[in-house]
Amino acid sequence: MAEQHEHETAETPAEPVKVVGEEPDTTRGTVRPITVVGNPVLHRPCEAVTAFDADLASLIDDMFVSMYAAEGVGLAANQIGVGTRVFVYDCPDDEGVRHVGHIVNPVLEELDASRRLLDESPEGCLSVPGAYADLARPDYAAVTGQDRDGKEIRIEGTGFFARCLQHETDHLNGYLYIDRLSKRDRKDALRQMAESTPRYATVPND
Ligand SMILES: [Zn+2]
Repeated sequence: MAEQHEHETAETPAEPVKVVGEEPDTTRGTVRPITVVGNPVLHRPCEAVTAFDADLASLIDDMFVSMYAAEGVGLAANQIGVGTRVFVYDCPDDEGVRHVGHIVNPVLEELDASRRLLDESPEGCLSVPGAYADLARPDYAAVTGQDRDGKEIRIEGTGFFARCLQHETDHLNGYLYIDRLSKRDRKDALRQMAESTPRYATVPND
């Protein structure tokens, strides 16, 4: 997921005080270019991870450095062209807490109706460079899955971080946030993208 829109960011408190999760060792990964809307890998469900091996660890390393290079707050594996179910994040919530980590084979928990409070805020995506659109999503989300060693984990979040968890799980199911917009808003997002130049390397579409 992309950072919040510039004028939104200006309202955000300066530096989050608390960090939940473990900061990655960014000396290990290789920055890879980002796939953009239209690339088939973004528009089909990713495959479950079955091998918790060195290749998976190295994929996660690459995903963290690629996310940081593109100044994103979340990144799914298919955004660097790999169709497997993994995402990474380094994302603030609305209380100033910074959440850092990764999850393999994430499944979004169903919310019961009483917890379903919708928050309509701007959303952006590294795979739709330069575009933002308001999108209503539940302001709480929890995902269960595994870590890189195969250990069961659960991640939950509120506000902007809840948005991130839902956005990244959508990616692994083959959906972009623009697929959740009205026809008109989707068209507007694609127009914003066409009129901007990405600040990071992207994979050209054929
Ligand atoms: Zn995205």
